[in-house]
Amino acid sequence: MDLRDSAEDESFRDEVRSFLEVSLSGDFAAVRGRGGPGDEHALFDQRLAWERHLGAHGWTCVAWPVEHGGRGLPLRRHVIYHEEYARARGPGRLGHIGETLLGPTLIAFGSPEQQRRFLPPIVAGDELWCQGYSEPGAGSDLASVATRAEPDGDDWVLHGQKVWTSLAHWAHWCFVLARTAPPVDPRRRHEGLSYLLVPMRQDGVEVRPIVQLTGDSEFNEVFFDGARTALGNVVGGPGQGWRVAMGTLAFERGASTLGQQLNFRNELDAITALARRNGAADDPVIRQRLARAHIGLEIMRLNALRTLSGTESGTLGREALIGKLYWAIVHRSLGELAMDVLGAHATVVDGAEALQRLFLFSRADTIYGGSNQVQRNIIGERALGLPKEPR
Ligand SMILES: Cc1cc2nc3c(=O)[nH]c(=O)nc-3n(C[C@H](O)[C@H](O)[C@H](O)COP(=O)(O)OP(=O)(O)OC[C@H]3O[C@@H](n4cnc5c(N)ncnc54)[C@H](O)[C@@H]3O)c2cc1C
Repeated sequence: MDLRDSAEDESFRDEVRSFLEVSLSGDFAAVRGRGGPGDEHALFDQRLAWERHLGAHGWTCVAWPVEHGGRGLPLRRHVIYHEEYARARGPGRLGHIGETLLGPTLIAFGSPEQQRRFLPPIVAGDELWCQGYSEPGAGSDLASVATRAEPDGDDWVLHGQKVWTSLAHWAHWCFVLARTAPPVDPRRRHEGLSYLLVPMRQDGVEVRPIVQLTGDSEFNEVFFDGARTALGNVVGGPGQGWRVAMGTLAFERGASTLGQQLNFRNELDAITALARRNGAADDPVIRQRLARAHIGLEIMRLNALRTLSGTESGTLGREALIGKLYWAIVHRSLGELAMDVLGAHATVVDGAEALQRLFLFSRADTIYGGSNQVQRNIIGERALGLPKEPR
């Protein structure tokens, strides 16, 4: 595969670049570079307006098929879009959970009615989503979810608690993994689960923020106490939740991360510029670590290209399975490097806040979306064909 841009790719790149350059000046100049990891609370209203601006100009959900409101971009152009978005320092996307997780799941598993109802507001930036998987007793061991949903008239009624629910405080809807039937066999706990689409703004849903290291609350506890959703809002059918939930996780760990990691280049540039300014770059150990960080990002880029070159069909090969583990480690090290370049200033909040937030938030990278240990199990079992972990 020729990894250089073709003439058509080049003109697509120009189109994205000029759209972003024009759009991110004027009213939207303030959102440039804001709202990324650790900065999620920044400028909510302006970023919501940005989300709608992107939607109105056809620049949300670019990888979705055209019939579902996307542009049907092949993976290669999808990456170009993300590269240009990162280069322009486009703001953290408020709609990313809907666009990268729920949308692709509905396209793969949803009914035509569900697709018609839920996809257009994601494309337009009108409805925000959150992911209701984890519970106090169910994280890596997701099949242990204890949230229950029972039919009552035309609705499902939910009781239970979710935790670590990112952006639940802004979300209009949550996709919830809930138990709708008891497991017949305790060794087959993934049976009897359903994937429900639940409105967040109703009595019976309580969102309690959890304060994080950064001092903000990117995630929350969510309590369902008699919350209701229509019987039709179950994706893949009652009892099919595990299959659908695993589909969502494959999207979470696969193509959606190809773009996210391009923002790391901007962070490394900021760290390098600081090291030049404050003299840290004179330290040979720091110089080596800056070089290692650069190499780590290049490896990520090359692995993304390798993944793409093996997948003209649009589905990701097994190379993609190392992506989450690798970027989480690289990004966490980048946060540590930022602290060491800041030196004593790392302990003082005096304007270098973005790098301090990078350090604090990147501690979570090796946990969410599947912890490093779980990713290693997945690579061992699914990519290398090693024996399954004893249960
Ligand atoms: C910033 C952030 C945002 C998040 N956002 C969301 C969200 O929006 N929605 C949502 O549903 N969840 C979210 N999560 C939760 C996340 O998915 C879980 O934290 C993660 O799945 C791990 O589960 P746990 O915290 O219960 O840890 P546990 O599963 O209890 O794991 C504890 C430790 O044991 C290890 N471990 C567990 N099982 C194995 C195994 N089989 N083999 C080897 N080691 C193992 C883990 O690697 C970890 O080190 C978020 C988490 C973070 C940090």
